[in-house]
Amino acid sequence: MTAFDHLAAGTDEALWVLDGLPRLVAPGGGERVLVLAAHPDDETLGAGGLLAACAQRDVAVIVVVASDGEASHPQSPTTTPAQLATRRRLEVQAAVAELVPGCAVRFLGLPDGQLAEHRAALQAQVAHHAAGCTLIVSPWSGDRHPDHAACARAAAEVATEHDLGHWQYPIWWWHWGDPAETAVPGLARLDLDSDTCAAKARALACHQSQHAALSDHAGDEAILPPRMLAHFTRPFECFVATSGRAREIGAPVDFEALYAQTDDPWGLAGRFYEQRKRELVLAALPRPHFRRAFEPGCATGLFAERLATRADEVVAWDVTDRALQQTRARVAGLPVTVARGRIPDDWPDGCFDLVLLSEVGYYCADLTALAERTLAGLSDDGVVVACHWRHPAPGHAQSAQAVHRVFEERLHAIVTHIEDDFLLHVWTRTGRSVAVETGVLS
Ligand SMILES: [Zn+2]
Repeated sequence: MTAFDHLAAGTDEALWVLDGLPRLVAPGGGERVLVLAAHPDDETLGAGGLLAACAQRDVAVIVVVASDGEASHPQSPTTTPAQLATRRRLEVQAAVAELVPGCAVRFLGLPDGQLAEHRAALQAQVAHHAAGCTLIVSPWSGDRHPDHAACARAAAEVATEHDLGHWQYPIWWWHWGDPAETAVPGLARLDLDSDTCAAKARALACHQSQHAALSDHAGDEAILPPRMLAHFTRPFECFVATSGRAREIGAPVDFEALYAQTDDPWGLAGRFYEQRKRELVLAALPRPHFRRAFEPGCATGLFAERLATRADEVVAWDVTDRALQQTRARVAGLPVTVARGRIPDDWPDGCFDLVLLSEVGYYCADLTALAERTLAGLSDDGVVVACHWRHPAPGHAQSAQAVHRVFEERLHAIVTHIEDDFLLHVWTRTGRSVAVETGVLS
């Protein structure tokens, strides 16, 4: 995962212009809301205003805190992790009491920094506490913090399974993000009134171990300096709001209807743009030959046909009958297995040393799942190639950049090709260049 430096200056709050975002309506009568925090303070920073708004409206709330945040000051010469854990539990209880008097806070006590490794336990606990809830609010999967991503994933799974709403709050994005790139699908704002803002400010003040230095010693610096805290004094909060079913983000594309109009809805065969892009992608492959390649969203099979000359076996998937028929006809006699499947919910068995994601990732609502499933089936020497259109398009739940970011965070790029119209990246686990891999450089 691409690290960010929480002590760096970060993005100035004044640069974030969020006036144009769609407005969210706070939960109302009969709803029940679970707010999940990865660490004590996430709940206040990301959803303190929402919590206070729920209290105003008599909406039942439960706050679940996954870790005790004991790893916030690993170099501290004055405070042990156990002392931090004790202190932060008290802080979050005080903070939540400011937001929602009498609200229950559940502590899961999972290890700070290792929530991804405890995802099954995390998910089971979230599911348990979400009983009777209508909305789960979690940290955002795109926050570049592995604990936040793990919470987002667990919440998404539970929301999908039980058909609940799911809102995700960014925290570190406000620090490392680029205000020019706020085209995050589902991003919306919840406006806060002055009482709610005041309650949030009081709650923030409770998290003293995070916004004040533990001591004057190195290693005890504040995690949340004033520049960072400024992002959380807005009279609104932002959430990436999805419905209960993550796959319903954005308007789903009716691929069958597209193919009913034409056999080649994107002009993949005839357009010079597509031909050239295909040659660039194939030229970017870092090896002459692969053992086993997977191409989800194979459309009419133009890549599958070419990959079959560079791999012992190709698995080509699509979700549309007409696409599968065309691919089967094109690759007849070649070592290509053509089948129906929708990533990332479905994924082919076995190990691949090449996964090609060509113009397919932005249909995936859950990019973390896409990245995790890709990596789970990727050989140690595996190569992931992604190529995505950069302009807005109907049905794209994600931007090209968001798709590529989840791989950027997990793998090393050996090819980065950026055009106005598309991104092309090739990643491996090692990041070793083609010259090194092929012995040109030792
Ligand atoms: Zn956190």
